[in-house]
Amino acid sequence: MKLKILTEGDEKLRVICKPVPKVTAQIKKLAADMIETMYAAKGVGLAAPQVGSDLRIIVFDPRTSRRRKPQVLINPVLSELEGEIRGDEGCLSCPGLWGEVTRYAHVKATGLNEKGEEVEIESEGGVLSVVLQHETDHLDGILFLDRLDPAQQLRVMKEREEL
Ligand SMILES: [Zn+2]
Repeated sequence: MKLKILTEGDEKLRVICKPVPKVTAQIKKLAADMIETMYAAKGVGLAAPQVGSDLRIIVFDPRTSRRRKPQVLINPVLSELEGEIRGDEGCLSCPGLWGEVTRYAHVKATGLNEKGEEVEIESEGGVLSVVLQHETDHLDGILFLDRLDPAQQLRVMKEREEL
């Protein structure tokens, strides 16, 4: 089922999400719905608060191949954050807005998959590293807009007024 994506200004996007205590059928359904919603919106990642849930769940598919390969990460924890990459980011919750964000290049993400199994994802840079950090930020109520430098924030504010 496709879910409604909340947009910036909705206070549900600013909530610190709670860990998922157990991967139940309900959680699996939510993750599957989030994947459907992400593809329908042509996004590369989606976090639970963007669809109004306060649970620590992210889904993503950095589209490194033509075939769809959606991944679910429940209670994600990032570690081994090293290096630096800088690139344009947007967000399904901030339609029409973009900006350059500095992120860590190397990321290790651990958490549970939709079967409740422990998984480890390592990324050396590129879209996957950015997506993991962008989506995990959502679980702590942080939007990419918060990570822009002051000059870019000013530009985005002006663009938003024009939208
Ligand atoms: Zn986002």
